[in-house]
Parts: sequence; C-alpha cells; structure tokens
Amino acid sequence: MKLTELFKSDKLSLSFEVFPPKTDTAFESVKHATEEIAKLRPSFMSVTYGAGGGTSKYTLDIAKNIKANYGVPTLAHLTCVSSTRETVRERIEDMKAAGISNVMALRGDIPAGLENADRSHWDYKHAVELVRELKTSGADFCIGGACYPEIHPESTNQKEDILYLKEKVDAGCEFLTTQMFFDNNLLYNFLYKIREAGITVPIIPGIMPITNGNQVERAIKLSGSFMPQRFKSLVDKFGTTPAAMKQAGIAYATDQIIDLFANGIKNVHVYSMNKPDVAEAIQRNLSDILG
Ligand code: FAD
Repeated sequence: MKLTELFKSDKLSLSFEVFPPKTDTAFESVKHATEEIAKLRPSFMSVTYGAGGGTSKYTLDIAKNIKANYGVPTLAHLTCVSSTRETVRERIEDMKAAGISNVMALRGDIPAGLENADRSHWDYKHAVELVRELKTSGADFCIGGACYPEIHPESTNQKEDILYLKEKVDAGCEFLTTQMFFDNNLLYNFLYKIREAGITVPIIPGIMPITNGNQVERAIKLSGSFMPQRFKSLVDKFGTTPAAMKQAGIAYATDQIIDLFANGIKNVHVYSMNKPDVAEAIQRNLSDILG
C-alpha cells in the first residue's frame, strides 16, 4: 500500500521506525525486535538505511518480512551521498524486485572527514537528485523525504532550507517526515512557514522518546534539537536512574503526541529504535485516543 493512501484517512495513527543490524550475527535479534513492533499493528513501519549503505540488504530483508508476514506497510529508506550512480541504481532495482512501494529518499550524512571536501565530482550532492532518480526509475514508488523544523544543521538560514525543501517536493516527494523535536511550538511555526512557501504535502512529525539519560547528548548532537527547560529538568532529575528515566521519557513523548493530535496532526512517527517495549508503552498510553 502506498502511504499516500493512509495519509488521506482522518483516523489518528502512529508509525514506528526500526533500524537494520550492522552484522550478520545481530540479524536474528533485530528481526525479532522488529516483529514485536509489527505485532502492535502500527500504520506503517520505516526501516532506516545504514550510513554508507553497508546494511542495505538488511533494510530490504526487514521491510519485506514485516510486510509479508505481519501485513504492516513499510517505508524503506535509501541514502545517496556516499554512493555512485551505479550503486544507487542497483539499490533501486533491488527495491523493485523486493516489491517495495514506499521509499524515503535521503541524502545521508556527509562521511566524517569529507565535510569540507570538493563535492563537484560526487554523483549525488542532495536528496533532490535521488528523488529525481527514483522518479525516472520506471517504478511507481511513493517517495518521502526528510525535513527539519529547527533547520538542517548545514543550512545557514531557514528561508534557504525551506526553498530547497520545496524543490525536493516539486521533484516528487509526496510526504515529509520531520527530524525529532522536543518543543511542539517549533513544529507549529515550521508548518506555518512551509505552508506559506507553498509546500502542501502531508508532514509527519517524528517524535523520539528519550528513555536513557546517555541518549540525550547524542540526540542533541545529531539533530541540533532545542531542549526545553521542562525536558532538561526531567533528565537532570531522572537521567541516572534508568527505570525512572524510561518512564519519564515515555510520558514526555506521549504528551507531545497528544498535543500534536489535539492540534490537528493525524499521523505521528515514533523513533522507536528497535525497542518494542517503548513502542508498546506509548501505544498503550494512547489506546483510547487512537481508538
Ligand atoms: P537534503 O534534502 O539534501 O538536505 C541537506 C542539506 O542540503 C540541507 O541543509 C538543505 O537545505 C541543503 N540542500 C538541499 N538541496 C539543496 C540544493 N539543491 N542546493 C544546495 N543545498 C541544498 N540518515 C541515514 O544515513 N539513514 C537513514 O535511514 C536516515 N533516515 C532519516 C530519516 C529522517 C526522517 C530524517 C530527518 C533524517 C534521516 N537521516 C538518515 C539523516 C539524514 O540523512 C541527514 O539529516 C542528512 O544530513 C540530510 O539528509 P536530507 O535527505 O535531509 O538531505
């Protein structure tokens, strides 16, 4: 099923994200975790693509398994920046062969050490080029892209970031999933600005439940997200007590999701990070709201 069909529905829904294993030995345990999440019957599950593409086979294996054995629609991620055109075309053929309907077209992070390299000879410099590649691949993929309510860390200003986002949508992105954020007002301001810029596709807010004090620093570093005082206090108080931090992090994420639903958002994506217990707890907290 194409996700655009799902986004037409008025029903409130949650989707979950999982990531593929990095090694053969971890495959079975990751597969098991993704199956436990699939049993929760989310509206869809996205499967990330390992930086540099080393785990691309697993992305498809996990996505295929969830779809075939649990009937959950899947969204397979694909990145392009560290790949040649030939490799990307091979990956797209693999996706076609695997029956993938929904693809998240991403640039990927610039590999460490190449941040200031001359990129003029790279086959792909931005996600928009991957979107165009997918559109001309001969497959009728539903294509999604990433967006950044707090601007992408490499962007100099939000106006420019939104201009490039519009280019990505005009190239064929049919929906956008946001980077994590911890203050919903940032999302509402962003929505206002992108709608004003003429971007009308569905926006799926991405919520990251922080369930471990050590996760906070890494999450901020990766996303550049603003930490509201309310969230900082919670980490200060519970960050060193794992069970308490987990409960508080799940409650905070639940609260964010309820506020998003109450303000007209219909689909929320949860960065569930291969943790079925966290996905299940959030879904249970929202059982009557989701209906
Ligand atoms: P782009 O859309 O190319 O944007 C990157 C930067 O380039 C921005 O500053 C943008 O303003 C600028 N830009 C865009 N187009 C142009 C242009 N034409 N000219 C000049 N500048 C331009 N990473 C993974 O490795 N695997 C994953 O599975 C994965 N999943 C993700 C899912 C989501 C929802 C999000 C938000 C991120 C994900 N990432 C993943 C991380 C992502 O790859 C990085 O954030 C990366 O740095 C940017 O990817 P992008 O697709 O947003 O890039």
